[in-house]
Amino acid sequence: MSDLDAFREEVRTWLEENCPPEMRQPVRDEDDVCWGGRNFTFKNEAQKQWLERCVAKGYTVPAWPRAYGGAGLSPAEAKVLREEMNRISARPPLSSFGIWMLGPALLKFGTEEQKVHYLGQIARGEIRWCQGYSEPGSGSDLVSLQTFGEDKGDHWVVNGQKIWTSYANKADWIFCLVRTDKTNKYQGISFLLFDMTSPGVSTKPILLISGSSPFCETFFDNVKVPKHQIVGELNRGWDVAKYLLGHEREMISGAGNADRLNTIGAILSRQGLEDPLLRAELAMFDVDALAFTAMGEKFLDEIKVGKAHPAQPNMMKYAGTELNKRRHELVMAAGGSAALEWESAASNEGARPRTWLRTKANSIEGGTSEVMLNVISKRILDLPGA
Ligand SMILES: Cc1cc2nc3c(=O)[nH]c(=O)nc-3n(C[C@H](O)[C@H](O)[C@H](O)COP(=O)(O)OP(=O)(O)OC[C@H]3O[C@@H](n4cnc5c(N)ncnc54)[C@H](O)[C@@H]3O)c2cc1C
Repeated sequence: MSDLDAFREEVRTWLEENCPPEMRQPVRDEDDVCWGGRNFTFKNEAQKQWLERCVAKGYTVPAWPRAYGGAGLSPAEAKVLREEMNRISARPPLSSFGIWMLGPALLKFGTEEQKVHYLGQIARGEIRWCQGYSEPGSGSDLVSLQTFGEDKGDHWVVNGQKIWTSYANKADWIFCLVRTDKTNKYQGISFLLFDMTSPGVSTKPILLISGSSPFCETFFDNVKVPKHQIVGELNRGWDVAKYLLGHEREMISGAGNADRLNTIGAILSRQGLEDPLLRAELAMFDVDALAFTAMGEKFLDEIKVGKAHPAQPNMMKYAGTELNKRRHELVMAAGGSAALEWESAASNEGARPRTWLRTKANSIEGGTSEVMLNVISKRILDLPGA
């Protein structure tokens, strides 16, 4: 038996003994997601137990070093763990912007003190983070951002406004792009971390088409940020921001998350769909979903050995989000008019149409599809004039 086979056996036994049955079901609604943080209320005891057991084992961030709360798994071992969790439909014990976005950036750019402090908190689900990038007028053209941090010796005083800040009203801390030099566009931005309860921070929820308000306008009015809360060098925050965006795009793409993008044709056609055109579309979707899964695996394997093209997350993001939108269009089409039911216990309060509408944002959040195509033309295809 190879080391990896032995590890698989060990993981299988551990999951069997530690993953509560309630946590072996697909996520159905927002309450099923464990976001952690100071104010998080667990949906049930099983959700709490599952988080605690994974934290103790380092399985909330399996590939991070043990010193920072991870399990120190090799990429191959982390893949085995992912496969074994998928096999029993185990829910992620913890979902967080800390894990998906800030963590990787801290691992690359953080000081040792920052890594021990912030990564440990993220791994244990103690602090919930939000992302302060976009501003009114600075979305795709993010580098034009205006939120300003005035140097006051041992701290900055931050003033400005962010927008579309997901879960800003629920987050404990923010990772935030702040201009610290008005004379230099790219090399005048710093990457700051601060507590959302700092005096001068306020949020205002924005209502979405799906009926929920998952994000906010976020205002900074003379917010004091100590100097040690900068990640990376002063005025070089754009490097940190871009690196983080690669991880964000990879996460949004769903690469490596077979559960989200698995095939649907076989499932839906069992419902006795007779429309031959729809059946053909479902079959085509399944082929593309399988191709995307294969591309995702290849991409993740290339990352492991350091051979992935740095712009590849843009390609994955484009393909994954367009596919996810198509998936939900088909789910709606296959459901007929009943799929439009919006408010009833039978429809789980319109879970299906609300999810469908939510997917419309997939190709906007984290960078739009048009912008992804621009990057692919320029950096991967090297097209003339791009
Ligand atoms: C659900 C959701 C969650 C989000 N969460 C966060 C968050 O937590 N934190 C955060 O900071 N931001 C967040 N965002 C904001 C997101 O990053 C921006 O919406 C996105 O970058 C686009 O910026 P914008 O909305 O200003 O659109 P704009 O940049 O104004 O774009 C408008 C349109 O013009 C097109 N366009 C713009 N420039 C080009 C170009 N050069 N070439 C071709 N077409 C172009 C775009 O594709 C788009 O169709 C979130 C957005 C959504 C939808």
